[in-house]
Amino acid sequence: MHLARLRKSSGGDPLAIAVLEKSRESGGHMLSGAILDPSALRDLLPDFESRGAPLGPVVQDERVLFLTERRTFRFPITPPPLKNHGCHVISLSRFARWLAEQAEAEGVDVFTGFAATEVLYEGERIVGVRTGDRGVDRQGGRKPTFEQGVDIRATVTVLADGVRGNLTKTVLGRLRLAAASQPQSYALGIKELWEVPADRLAAGTVVHTLGYPLRAEEFGGGFIYALAPDRLSVGFVTGLDYRDPLFDPHAAFQRFKRHPAIAALLADGQMVRYGAKALPEGGWHALPRAYADGALVIGDAAGFLNSLRLKGIHLAMRTGMYAAEVALDALQAGDASADRLEAFRDKVDDGPVRRELYPVRNVHQAFGHGLLAGLAYAGLSLLNRGWWLRDPMPSHPGHERMQTVRAYHGSDPPGPAQAAVPIDRTLTFDRLTNVHFSGARHEEDQPTHLLVRDLDICRTRCREEFANPCLRFCPAQVYEMVESDDGVRLQINASNCVHCKTCDILDPYQIVDWVPPEGGGGPHYDGM
Ligand code: SF4
Repeated sequence: MHLARLRKSSGGDPLAIAVLEKSRESGGHMLSGAILDPSALRDLLPDFESRGAPLGPVVQDERVLFLTERRTFRFPITPPPLKNHGCHVISLSRFARWLAEQAEAEGVDVFTGFAATEVLYEGERIVGVRTGDRGVDRQGGRKPTFEQGVDIRATVTVLADGVRGNLTKTVLGRLRLAAASQPQSYALGIKELWEVPADRLAAGTVVHTLGYPLRAEEFGGGFIYALAPDRLSVGFVTGLDYRDPLFDPHAAFQRFKRHPAIAALLADGQMVRYGAKALPEGGWHALPRAYADGALVIGDAAGFLNSLRLKGIHLAMRTGMYAAEVALDALQAGDASADRLEAFRDKVDDGPVRRELYPVRNVHQAFGHGLLAGLAYAGLSLLNRGWWLRDPMPSHPGHERMQTVRAYHGSDPPGPAQAAVPIDRTLTFDRLTNVHFSGARHEEDQPTHLLVRDLDICRTRCREEFANPCLRFCPAQVYEMVESDDGVRLQINASNCVHCKTCDILDPYQIVDWVPPEGGGGPHYDGM
């Protein structure tokens, strides 16, 4: 939209601008807490209010709570990074759908239901993307409905395929764009939307929690955002760098809801939607080189997210605007080389993105040393603007931190019964019930979109060493170990997948590749 408007105001002929969206409808796969910092929106569309932007209430009341198993302690003040003055509680999926409508009104072609599956190159120059074939059966054969994917060639390709994007992952690898960066770290956010009696929280109330059910060694916390007096967004974020292979993020979320302070808010309510999504938390030091010959990488795909503020939507919008400005300049100059597109980095360096991310560049890494160290350093970074003796503070890929069952638990690990959370389907839910509320829908007869490169590892080494952590870290029960004639084997229930990307990120052997299923498949996050 920004590119179309810039082109119009420069007096040039309209450009052909296409947006590919793998969801059935714009915003259908978008999931976040979400609190919107409106700074980028104000710059993009100053008249957003008169255009009917679907923003929820302005944040009115903020609380930060520390939870023990039974008790609640309120922080006497809200730490500055968690202050949300002037921000809005929103549904990201609805906001994204509205933005797509604004873009279409400016002449942008938004193609929903089309997944980009491959990056097109000429030499090392990116020249576009290929969309996935449709109508392919489980064995790879063509069904009567077969439609070949199409090549969409572009002078500038902007990769905005989200956290651990399938296209960005291959581009970073092939062009070594992250070679000089710290490894990206991730967290998993699991969220439910609840309808509750209207006497619980005023609209615009924002609650963040630390502590229970996480141990001090684990990073994360809970959130409750009041979209309306009778509608709460309830979620839990867990760092995907935990050591205990038996840790279960979905179970942690259920435990969180059973805490007396949270259960009281949800009593007599009803869960109406469910979803999960990973988020990039590595910050400034984990940003890759976000430009290449013919291409730019923006938003979560590149890792533009402030994990201390728990916000990335405004940074995704801001970097999208920069991409538009740099792309227009490249088009007008007839030069989309990396040298020309490097202007994107200058914009990031000279503007609000660096001002926001650089001072907190080591905070997530500090949480790798435990909750207390992380909190202490987060406070310190407000004074020293992120300085530390070793800058960047060392960081490791999350999957490398996971220990084997024996290393973590010794010879007597807890059994499944000890780890189980009571499921009552009123306050707590099993994964399959949750998946039903995600609206996930995929064509059943298609090749699996979860490519496990060595299934033998799953039934041998991974089973013995890590007790198959995918059974626990996948929030949608996609992975199951089942008995078969040849012994136990991994079964992949791909149609449950909610596209969170956790398996691609956290598998200890790094043998899982998430690739897009047939366009249109996936969750339906309306209202999330
Ligand atoms: Fe997430 Fe992977 Fe499970 Fe899909 S299969 S829901 S991407 S962990």
